[in-house]
This record gives sequence, structure tokens and C-alpha cells, in this order.
Amino acid sequence: MLTTLKRIVQEVNGASSLGEALTILVDRVQRAMETDVCSVYLLNPDTRRYVLMATQGLNQDAVGQVSLSSSEGLVGWVAAREEPINLEDASSHPRYHYLSGTGEERYKSFLGVPIIHHRRILGVLVIQQSEQRKFDESEEAFMVTMSAQLAAVLAHAEATGQILGFDSNNQDNAKKKSDVMIPGAPGAPGVAIGTVVVLSPTADLYDVPDRHVKDVEREVQRFQAAIEGARVQIQQVGETLADLRPGEQALFDVYIRMVDDDALGNEVIRRIRDEQQWAQGALRAVILEYAAHFEQMDDVYLAERATDIKDLGARVLAQLQETIELVQELDFPANTILVSEELTPSMLVEVPEGKLVGLVSARGSANSHVAILARALGIPTVMGAVDLPCKQMEGLELVVDGYRGRVYSHPSKRLRKQFQGIVEEEKALVKGLETIKDLPAETLDGKRIALCVNTGLITDALRSLDRGAEGVGLYRTEVPFMMKDRFPSESEQTDIYQRQLKAFAPQPVTMRTLDIGGDKALTYFPIEEDNPFLGWRGIRVTLDHPEIFLLQIRAMLKASVGYNNLQIMLPMITSPSEVEEAQRLIYRAYQEVVDEGLKVEMPKVGVMIEVPAAVYQARTLASMVDFLSVGSNDLTQYLLAVDRNNPRVAELYDAFHPAVLHALQQVAQAGKAENCPVSVCGELAGNPAGAILLMAMGYDMLSMNATNLPRVKSLIRHMNSEQAADLLDKVMAMDNPQIISSTVELAIKKLGQGKLVRPVDTSA
Ligand code: PEP
Ligand code: MG
Repeated sequence: MLTTLKRIVQEVNGASSLGEALTILVDRVQRAMETDVCSVYLLNPDTRRYVLMATQGLNQDAVGQVSLSSSEGLVGWVAAREEPINLEDASSHPRYHYLSGTGEERYKSFLGVPIIHHRRILGVLVIQQSEQRKFDESEEAFMVTMSAQLAAVLAHAEATGQILGFDSNNQDNAKKKSDVMIPGAPGAPGVAIGTVVVLSPTADLYDVPDRHVKDVEREVQRFQAAIEGARVQIQQVGETLADLRPGEQALFDVYIRMVDDDALGNEVIRRIRDEQQWAQGALRAVILEYAAHFEQMDDVYLAERATDIKDLGARVLAQLQETIELVQELDFPANTILVSEELTPSMLVEVPEGKLVGLVSARGSANSHVAILARALGIPTVMGAVDLPCKQMEGLELVVDGYRGRVYSHPSKRLRKQFQGIVEEEKALVKGLETIKDLPAETLDGKRIALCVNTGLITDALRSLDRGAEGVGLYRTEVPFMMKDRFPSESEQTDIYQRQLKAFAPQPVTMRTLDIGGDKALTYFPIEEDNPFLGWRGIRVTLDHPEIFLLQIRAMLKASVGYNNLQIMLPMITSPSEVEEAQRLIYRAYQEVVDEGLKVEMPKVGVMIEVPAAVYQARTLASMVDFLSVGSNDLTQYLLAVDRNNPRVAELYDAFHPAVLHALQQVAQAGKAENCPVSVCGELAGNPAGAILLMAMGYDMLSMNATNLPRVKSLIRHMNSEQAADLLDKVMAMDNPQIISSTVELAIKKLGQGKLVRPVDTSA
């Protein structure tokens, strides 16, 4: 059953249009179930009727012609009840409604299952049979599973049809729809109107489609160049690693031998020529064939070589993709909206300065690192738009609504005007806030709190300078690592860090040690785990690789010579012993730098509180270090057991959850008890509603993206500390996250500052 299911889903998935997908669906299901009829009805959102879209067994002339409302017939009943209906004799049922012209009067038994995607009913899948019988439990289970698996595929195909101007409710009549809305999640606030450029995610062999080409010799050349590129890259990584991890150098020697082995390369070239296949497709076929061959071997050592082959294949594929992206670079339009299945931080820097206006990612959520970077850069972003037909969107005009997390294709004149108005209002708000740039974040009754920025790139650091930040509360050092194709050397790191320290001196810059793992991958240091967020992340990686850690700390210390504004922060701390170990290494690196004759002060060292264990040990940790900084993004994820990247559970991820607020208050109190400064550098700090609660809890500093800093400051300057304290008392007694946020937002509106929390109503 599972194999049949998988095969059908794959076939439907491979269809090039909604019409083809539905035809394949009804044909395959009817055959697999050995029934007389299989039909699919889809909801037309405009008429709210379920239209017969494809059938195997009923009269073909009825397709696109007959429809039912949710109060009509058995199909309507399945849709209204949102559950399967299995009847031995359909015509004797009171809800039976004969659809004339379909020829269904011949069929007695009926099984209809709803097709539901993200709680939204899309349609009904029906099988019918002339013989009077009840479909058995296994048949019902098959249909339910089938429809659950197909829901996402159909939603995607439907969106594709609509976006491309294919009217899903009339297959013959290709009508261009305007203002087609694809839902997602808000990633970074703001709206943008622009033209789509699609970028592919990092090389994934399994995603490569077949594609026929005319110029095969050009493909052969591209392949040969890619092989050479991969060889150079492997050599470089191998050399860097040779200093760091001599044991693993051997792996790279194996790769080089594989690259040099003509058999593999020749086989790819043969396929390109024989099958007129593009280089990526031929590479995928050969690599997966080789890998499968190794995987079947009994010898464990040889079986593991399959992983090496695939890794090598991915590297060559990455080289091939690079050549394609270089071609694309020339075509970035003035108002580029970058669209991708999965946006990565490195994609943001591919668009030439000043051309990028919006971002849309089919995967990920507001808490993904790329969304955090987008907020830092002030680029309106929609994440988790799962139904986005990315591959077919190149060149389309799009409106990105980063406030509500929506994307509109083919915007009408009216919609464009409405969003243009919002862009203007936003500009005016930002301009208005410029006046408070040099004023402190101080309440009306004189309570001060320091506001700093989070940075990762030098671009966002420079952008923060004119926002009135009092330093950097979190510099994500992994970001420059992610932009490279190998570990940056000590001197390269020194240069990168020095630019940050110099830009902000004498204000402090808090540099977090390398925080990779989770959703932050380095292509040249792959970590593959079933549960990456509970795995080898942050300090766990760097303590296991003291050579990487020591090199980074030395680079930070050297960069700080002459400025002395460095602070060091340790991510993902779970136990005090990790802090002791890290401190020991920091002292060692410090000693080494001093021994080299450099004059530098010992920086302050702090830890991040982002694992629940650290909340319960906050006092002990506070007694060991110079400051605590709460990473509310991860803390929320771990406290609520909600993957911060998973759009399916994004609605459960809420930093205003009472459990998170109580944990935050506990950390603030622990810090105070030990006289240790406490701050928050997660996204909650940059949310004006979150910021005032944190201020009332007693946090000394909040660090956030540069876009939100003036908003938070403006709000603080418009209230007094007693109002914030009363509000905190009130919400700490509440048990519902939504009610908590609404209460705070309402209080902000009452202060006349509503524009700061939800700047504009973008409901189209
Ligand atoms: C956090 O977890 O809140 C944090 C600031 O770190 P990051 O988002 O980089 O994981
Ligand atoms: Mg974190």
C-alpha cells in the first residue's frame, strides 16, 4: 500500500499543471482501488462551490460543468463535516443529490474523503462502484492517507495554476487572475513591490530535475570546469583542515582520488552526450547510481563510501549551480524580490547593493536565521509560503507584505496603489523617528535602559550606526563564516572583527563565539543529524574543537588591540562546566596573544541563556561571568518544544507565552541577585511590546535589529516606568499568549503609539 501511495504522490507531484495532476490522480487511484469511478471535486473560493475537476468513470463532458455547494449532495456533506463518508447505497441516503449529466446514477457505493491542507478544505476525493457494498476499513484508510498526502501537492499545483494565470476552475479557459494571494508567515516587517528573481538552495542532488539541452558540448565543458573547481575547493578545505584536524585530511585525499578517477567523470560525460542531458542531470544520475551500488555492499567501510560519493557529487553540483547563478547576477532588476524554496543568509549578499527590496521563502519561519538577518537589513520578508511555486516565478511582479506574511502575484492597479501608500507611510515614520537618534532610551520619569544592535554583516553594522545604538549586543560571528567556502583563517577573522570593533569604538561590541549547528550550516563543515537543534550546536561544537575556538578568540583579541571594546559571549550554554572550560580556553588564547607582544585588555565574558537548563542555573552562571544575555529565540523554541524553523508549528511559537515570560523574569532576578548585568538579544527585545515588558522586569540592556531600535526607543520615551510595571504585573497573571500580546498592544495604543506596534493595516 505504501509503495502504491508513494508512487501516486510522486507522479502527481511531477505533473506540470493542475489539470494534469488531477487527471493522473483520478486515473491512478481508480486503478489502485479497482473501483468503477474516481473523481475529484475542488472548491472554487469565489463561488464557494465544489466543482468536478477530473474523473475516471463519470461522463467527461461533466468536468468543469457540475458543481455542488457544501449544503448539497454527499460531496458537500463530506466537505461540511470534514470527514470521510462511506455508504453502501448512496442513492437511498437523504443527502444524495443526483448530478445530471454525470452518469453517476449507475453507481451504488460511495466513499468520499475531504482534502484538507493546513486546516483549509480544498476539495473532496470520491470513489464509487456499481455493486452495492461498503468499502472496507483498509480501503477507507488508503483513501484518507492518499488525500492527506495529496493535499499539499494539490495546494501547490493550484497556487501554481493561479499564479501562472491558469484558472483552476476552468481548465480550458486560461484566464489571468490578478491579486492571487499566497499565505506565509511574517518574516521581516514592511512591504515591497518588485520583480522576482529565483535562486536555488544549496546543492541538493535529489532535487535536480532532468533537462534536455541542445548544446551538449557546452554542458561537457561546464562539467569539466565544475570538476576542476571542486578539486581546487577540496584541496583548499583539506589544507585548512590539515592544520586543524590532521586525522581528517585523509578524507580529502580520498575525495581527490575520486575526482581524479576518470571512470566517474567519463560516465557523466557519456550521459550528457548520449541523452542530451544537462550537466546537473547527468551528474545526479551517475552519483546516485554509484552511491546505491556502494550502499548495497556488506562491507561497512565500503558501504560508507556512498556518503563520500554523494558529498563529492554535491560539491560538483554546487560548482555547476554557481556558474548558473553568475549568469543570473547580470539580470537582477532594480527592485529585486528574491524568491527561493529555502532562502539562506548567503543568498542575501548575491544581489548587488541597493537592488534587493523583498524576500520570500517557501520554507522556514520568522525565527529562521535568514529572517533575523532580513530584519537587521530592513528587507520586507515572507517566510514559510509553502504553496509558492518557486520554480515558475522568475520575472513575475510581486507584492511582499512582510507585516501579515502574504505574497500577491499579478497585482492589480488598485492593490499596487494601496501598497505604494503603505511604503510611503513607512518612510514617513522612519523619517520622524530620526529626530530621537541621539536621545537616550529613557522613560518620562527618567528610567534608562541601554539599547544596542544585533549585527552579522558589516553592511548591517554600518546601517546601525545612524540609528543611535549604544553598541553591539550580539555580533553573530557565524554569519561571515557562512559567507565563505572554507574556514576563514586567523588573519581573515581578525580583519572582519576589527571592522566591527572599529565601527563602534568606544562603544562595546559583544562577539558571540561561533554558533553553528541547528539551522546554521557551513557547507564546508557539514553536520548531519536527525535532531540538529538538540544536537551538536554552538559551544558544544567549539569545545569539541578547541583549535577552532582558540583561533577565533585569538582573532577577536587581536582585532581589539587599540580599541579594547570587545566583549565575548558563549552560546548554547547548558552547564557551568562548559563555561569553566570555555573560560580556560579564553585565558589561554589571551596569554598567547599577550606572549606575541600585543597589548590588549582582557575582555568581559558572558553567557547566553537560551537553554531551559540555564534558566534554572542562572544564578550560578551569573556568579561565574561578567554578564548574562538571554537568547529568547532559542529559549522560546526549547521551552515550548516548537522548532523555530518549522512553518507547520509556527503558530505555536510565541515568545509571549507565560512560560517564556516567567523564565525571563527569573533570569532577570537571578542576575540582580548576583549583581551581574542582564540583557536580552533575542527578537523579543526588538518587539516594542516585548521591550517594555523586559524593561519592567529589570533588564539593563536590550539588543535588537537596527530597524526596530528607533521604534523601541520612541515607545520607551513616551511612557513612564510605573505604567510598564503595572502592565507587567497584569500580564504575568495571565495564561494565554495571545491575550498577553493584545493587552500590551492595547496599552501601547492607549499611549497614542499604536503605529509602532502594527504600523499599518495591510488587509487587502
Ligand atoms: C537567540 O537564540 O535568541 C539568539 C539571539 O541567537 P540566535 O537567534 O542566533 O540563535
Ligand atoms: Mg540562539
